[in-house]
Parts: sequence; C-alpha cells; structure tokens
Amino acid sequence: MAYYLKYRPQKIADLDNAKLRETLGAVLKGIDNDNGSPDLSTPVKQANSLANARSVPHAFLFTGPKGLGKTSTARIIAKIVNCENRKKGDIEPCNVCESCISITKGNNVDVLEIDGASNRGIDEIRDLREKIKLAPVSSKKKVYIIDEVHMLTTEAFNALLKTIEEPPSHVMFIFCTTEPQKVPATIVSRCFHISLSLATPEELVRSLQRIADGEKLSISKDALSFIAELADGGFRDGSKILEEMAMLANGKEITREFVAERYNVSDIDHLISQFLQNLYEKKTKESLTLIGELVTQGVDIKYFINQLLQALHQLLLREMGLSTTEKYNDIKFSLNEIQILANSLQQAYRDTKFAVVAQLPLEMITVMWCQQEEVKVEKAPFTISSKPTMETLLKKEKNLKVKSILNPEVKKEEKKEETASVQGELPENIDSLTALLENIIYKVKPFNHSVAGVLRGCTITSIGNGQIVFQTAYKFHKEKLMEPKTFDTLAQTIKEVTGKEYKVMIELKQ
Ligand SMILES: [Zn+2]
Repeated sequence: MAYYLKYRPQKIADLDNAKLRETLGAVLKGIDNDNGSPDLSTPVKQANSLANARSVPHAFLFTGPKGLGKTSTARIIAKIVNCENRKKGDIEPCNVCESCISITKGNNVDVLEIDGASNRGIDEIRDLREKIKLAPVSSKKKVYIIDEVHMLTTEAFNALLKTIEEPPSHVMFIFCTTEPQKVPATIVSRCFHISLSLATPEELVRSLQRIADGEKLSISKDALSFIAELADGGFRDGSKILEEMAMLANGKEITREFVAERYNVSDIDHLISQFLQNLYEKKTKESLTLIGELVTQGVDIKYFINQLLQALHQLLLREMGLSTTEKYNDIKFSLNEIQILANSLQQAYRDTKFAVVAQLPLEMITVMWCQQEEVKVEKAPFTISSKPTMETLLKKEKNLKVKSILNPEVKKEEKKEETASVQGELPENIDSLTALLENIIYKVKPFNHSVAGVLRGCTITSIGNGQIVFQTAYKFHKEKLMEPKTFDTLAQTIKEVTGKEYKVMIELKQ
C-alpha cells in the first residue's frame, strides 16, 4: 500500500499541520455537550446546559491546496463523533471499534463521502436532502463529507443552504475544497471554516519522520529535510518522494547525496550558473536547449526555478554589498534586471504547478527575456520603476522601436538628453542626485563590482562649491570607500560623469 494511504493520519495527534491540530483540539472540546436537545427539566440542569452550551459545529469547511490532508481530517472528525469507545472529555477516536474501523475502510453506511464534481446538480442535492431526514443506521451521527464542494451548481448550493441552516441534530457536514473563492459566502458563513496553507518544512519533516519510523527506514536527518524541500509544501508529495527513495535504496541508508543523485539534482549548481549565464548573454537557443536537457534528465522544473530564485537572491545581496559570494562572478545583472527576472520566475513557478507542459512557463519567460535586447542599454543608469514587469518592458521596447522607425534620430536624441541632464549644471533636487548616483554606480561597476554594491547603500546629500557629499548608514561602507584605491576610482568617476573635479566627502549617517 502507498505510504500516503498507509500513513494517513488516523487521529488528531497524527495530523502534521500544527494549526489544524490546535484548532480542532479547541473546537472539539465541546463535543460531549452535543447530545441533541438539552435536558432542561430542572433549574440546575438548565444552568448546566447553559454552562455547557458550547457544542461542536454542525458544518465544517476545509480549504487549501491539494495533498494537505483535508479529507483525512474529515474522516477523523467523523470517527470522533461516532466512536463507540471514546471516553468523555477525550477527543481522540479509539480506531479499534467497529465504527472507527468502518470509517477507516470507507464502508460506514452513515459516513458518506460525496465527490462534488460528479454530484454537482440540483437533483443530487435534493436526493441528499431527502435522505438526510432519515436517522443514522448504526451511528450517532450521519456525516456528509463533500469533496471539491466548489463544483456544485448554484441551484445545488441553494438547496444545500436550506439544509445547513436548520440541519437535523443527527447530521454533520464537512466540506472540502481547493478553491474557496468559488464557494458562496452564504455557505461559508454557516460553516466553521479552517483554511489550510502549505506545510512548513518542520511540519513536512514531522510527517516524513512518522513514515520513516513506521517503515523502520534508515535515513539521515539531512535527507529528510532535503525531501521536505523537494516536496514543496505538500504532505502527499513528500511521502511519494520518500517512498520512491526507500524503494531505490533497498534497505541501505538514505543520505542527502543519495536523494540528490536520484532526484537528478546533483549537478544543479552547474546548470543554474550555466542557465543564468545564458540569460545574461541573452542566448535564447542555448537557454531553451538547457531546459530541454533538464526535462530529459528528469529534473523537477519547479525545483530548478526555485534554485534559480535562490541564485538571484544571492546576486541581489551581492549587488547591495551584503554578500561577497564568488559564485556567478561573470553574471552582472543590474538591480533592475534582478527584479524583473525574479518577478517573472516567481510567476513561472506558480504557473508550473498547473501547467500541462511543465517546462512551458519557464520557456516562455526565457524567450521573452532573451528577445528583448533593449533592457541593458535602455534602462541603463536612470530609473528604477517600482515594479517593472516583462510586459511593461516589452511595451517600452515596442514604443521605442515604433518611435525609432518613425524617426531614426529619436533614440539618439533621447540618449543625449539623458546624459546632458547630469552633465550640465546640477540642480540639487533628490531626483537629480539619485540619477547622478545611479550614473556613478553604472560607470564604477565594470571596474569595481563591490564598490558599486557599497554605493547602492549610499545617498548623495549635496553637490556644489567644488564638493560632493556621500552619506551611508554603515561604518564598514564608509571605511571601504575611504580606502585610497577605491577613493581615487570614485573621484575619477565623478569627474568623468560630471565633467568637473569635486572634493569627495563620505559622511556617516547619524
Ligand atoms: Zn472508536
């Protein structure tokens, strides 16, 4: 039997999602107060009833991505309300009584699992409403678990609504869906709604550890965390990878290296740098060929994009002077380019989850990126828009091209203007000072990458009377800039950019 089914959580404590465990623990505390009509025959009993008025909700709604255990949780609740051995005050099902076992096996006549996708019409819901009136056959409560409830038609929802508003006391509903936004608000508001988010690495490790213990697998802690990383927030995916590794290891110890090798990620560092280099050089064909190779080798595309984003993160930190990584030394994306690529890759990452052809989203952004050659030249030192996207850049490029066709001189003139604005008399407003700094960074970068990074953390506070003042909040940035060689480069660059000689001052921001 697949690990995922074999190790399906059978009680609240088995649930790996911490939020779910805690919420259900709190909600189900009132379970023993839920015995149909309260006994109000004496004043004392009335008072008790009021004190114990809290009872379990009669309708739950679980929402969240696939593979997080929504239906498993629904079954656990069904067991808890129907368990024959459960002691008062205890919320866990016994898992050995007839009721518990039949629910685990999926053949309890009073616990009905309905697939919303294939029972979505009004007739099915009407039929359900008729049957709901009948008392449970052998359990305390009839539990209706409707999976993918968002698939129901509007009429079906309306019919269901009436039932949820005034359900017979022997009925409980549990709705599950991956698309909460498609469930009418009127339904949501009548349910106890628990929204599940992707599993955290810790939760995934907990879940994998439970399986590894159960199977008596020999596996290192490193390997578990690595599988958790590959599972990308899904318990089901995690258990599938672990199962595959256990089969391949065939009794031997499962190490991180073993997983990396089997998962075709051992060479990933090299592939990442090669791919980034291709993007940097705008080599469309080579980039696409590399993606093709990934697919042939069976590398998980989502994992590859994930690692690309990690690399961009390193490049961003280096650009800001916060990292001195030696990796990707030949790749000198500007801040703007890092931003555009990161945004596009995040989009591709999300799209990949639902893509029919897994590599297509990555291929598309690759082509878009490589085809628009203007980015480098055109964006050069001047503006960093708040959130540039591939679309806006393409639009920009298109406009530019149109203009250039209409008047071949336009582009040249635009360039001249831009340069002139920093070379002429320098009005001291924030924008021009920022532009000046950007221009200095642009010129310094080819000679000294790390100084360019440091300058990004600085501002120019004033220029005039033969003096230019830089300000930084970090002592080590100031020290770096004051180093004789750096200082000379900086002074020389300022002269080149402004056409004048300035005395350079570096101040520490107080
Ligand atoms: Zn039981």
